[in-house]
Amino acid sequence: MSIPVIVWGAAGRMGKRCLETIRKDSAVHLADAVDRTDHPALGSDVGLFHGLEKIGIPLHANPGQQTESGVVLDFSVGGTSQALDWALSNNWRLVSGATGLPEPVQQKLIRAAETIAVLSAPNFSIGIQLLLSLVEQAASLLPGEFEVAICETHHNRKVDRPSGTANAFRNRIIGKSRRKIDVASLRVGEVIGEHSIRFVSHAEEISFSHTANSRDLFAYGAIQAVRWISDKVPGLYSMKNVIGLE
Ligand code: NAD
Repeated sequence: MSIPVIVWGAAGRMGKRCLETIRKDSAVHLADAVDRTDHPALGSDVGLFHGLEKIGIPLHANPGQQTESGVVLDFSVGGTSQALDWALSNNWRLVSGATGLPEPVQQKLIRAAETIAVLSAPNFSIGIQLLLSLVEQAASLLPGEFEVAICETHHNRKVDRPSGTANAFRNRIIGKSRRKIDVASLRVGEVIGEHSIRFVSHAEEISFSHTANSRDLFAYGAIQAVRWISDKVPGLYSMKNVIGLE
């Protein structure tokens, strides 16, 4: 049976990619498309708004009445708390890709996971998940004299810095070793997402890097997460669970 999905932040860039990915995947279908209460396109067909084919679902400020349970997919900037409230009240699962969440919203996600299944991921890329594991392994094996430089570059409209992914790399390293870590953020042009992690000693350097070539990879990973979480019991999950690394 196809999984109903409500896209939260549906008028945004990632919202558009998610709509396109949902259309191509028969395991899921769009149940509603939500954006902020003052969005100028409220009431317009969300597909036509994005220059895609007509989808038959208008952009709403709140989801309409739902007959079955599904997954809220949140890619809003500033709407995660409302998405969570709605998911809790309606007993839907929630997958959030929003980054730079304020501490109170992060705490709210953790509390909500006692009642519904919640998955929050700063990066839905499968490649990044693999790289997180490799970097964690390097951090646990390399002597403390190896210092770390993390550098991330994104398009000039990205507001949070460092990126959620850079923070995830830093946390993985801190979890395995005590060493000096410096993080740099660049915001330029249309760069979708670049991360490099360098382990540097006085005598040698090991570097890892990842480049996102298309936003499609995030939408694809997000829909994999939606499919994975659709039958899960309450709890806080991550992309590690989705790709079987945990
Ligand atoms: P965007 O600015 O294009 O879209 C955000 C949308 O959220 C906008 O349409 C905006 O109107 C809407 N919004 C604002 N307040 C809202 C509210 N209260 N309720 C509902 N909608 C609301 O941004 P984007 O490039 O699509 O990125 C969205 C988020 O996803 C960012 O936090 C970004 O860093 C993150 N992101 C995550 C991944 C990942 O893999 N996890 C990948 C890319 C982007």
